[in-house]
Amino acid sequence: MAAPLPPNATIGIVGGGQLGRMSAMAAARLGYRCHILTPEEDSPASQVSARTFLGDYEDQALLRAFAESVDVVTFEFENVSAEGLDLLQSIRPVRPSPNVLRISQDRVVEKTFLNDAGVATASWLEIKSRAALHAAVARVGLPGLLKTTRGGYDGKGQAMLRSVCDLNDMWEEMAPKPLILEALVKFEREISVIVARGLDGRAVAFDPVENRHRDGILDLTLAPAPITPETAANATRVALKVADALDLVGVLAVEMFVLADGGVLVNEIAPRPHNSGHWTIDACPASQFEMHIRAVAGLPLPPAVRHSDAVMKNLVGPEEVAQWPAILGTPGLVPHLYGKAEARPGRKMGHVTTLYPLGTLSVD
Ligand code: AMP
Repeated sequence: MAAPLPPNATIGIVGGGQLGRMSAMAAARLGYRCHILTPEEDSPASQVSARTFLGDYEDQALLRAFAESVDVVTFEFENVSAEGLDLLQSIRPVRPSPNVLRISQDRVVEKTFLNDAGVATASWLEIKSRAALHAAVARVGLPGLLKTTRGGYDGKGQAMLRSVCDLNDMWEEMAPKPLILEALVKFEREISVIVARGLDGRAVAFDPVENRHRDGILDLTLAPAPITPETAANATRVALKVADALDLVGVLAVEMFVLADGGVLVNEIAPRPHNSGHWTIDACPASQFEMHIRAVAGLPLPPAVRHSDAVMKNLVGPEEVAQWPAILGTPGLVPHLYGKAEARPGRKMGHVTTLYPLGTLSVD
């Protein structure tokens, strides 16, 4: 196994958003510096990092210079081309490996991987043509969800299909193709489990949390999720199984649906720190960001325990960020802003965490 990165080493982060910002802040506390690769000037991550390589993710010369300037490369943004990933890996270790990113970039590859690993998902079919869409509807049934296989996030790139009359219109509207059709799951709650897995293959998991969305964007995370110990144990087992199957090095978020019988179906995986893990910064001795940096740097992983229960509220768009002065003036709220200059509707500007004594969070 490779030796741990020594203090003062440099970690390269692909992507300049808030996940990179909070990772770089965790890295700084462990004595590392970060270089950021991003097309965005004055990005949230650049503001707290030693150096930024500004330009396109597909610019080979830029990728090369970025990789040569660091000791190890990681990601907060997954959609770099396969060629770009291979180039980075030819120069420095990339953690998690490009193979993990390739799996998470494409819903067909992701769901095939999960199902092959014995992990249950909603039933789904790949759709490459209008005729295939009609055939899939006959097999999966309606209502269903049509999703683009690549590039979707925060509920973008998906549409509800309720009637066969919508089929032709939907096929025209959705881009980029191909698509998948997924059965609509009648879930009780949406949960996620954040797993960290080190270079030595040892893994830890934070307790499952519940995620509540508004307009397709995460609004609240409740830690811990109000689920039975059996469901929590099952969800954790599933998440650890996925991390092992991926041979992950880093942090992985596994989003799941909880069914009425307590069973879980995996919806999506993200091999990076995740919005539903932001509560760990304030409620845990080691946050998801510290876990990620530790794993990427080859350091040991501490237990993924929390000292408090927590509710994380995202601050999305101009209306919610306008509450900033009130948040700052309210005792007990832990505020986080991401340094974004412009508050566009739907844009995640920051979040606020409320802590509760361990074991006291009660929600309906
Ligand atoms: P995704 O883009 O796959 O993360 O989905 C975004 C949101 O859409 C999820 O958080 C769920 O609320 C909802 N959703 C996605 N897939 C399904 C499904 N098969 N059944 C019911 N709801 C879904």
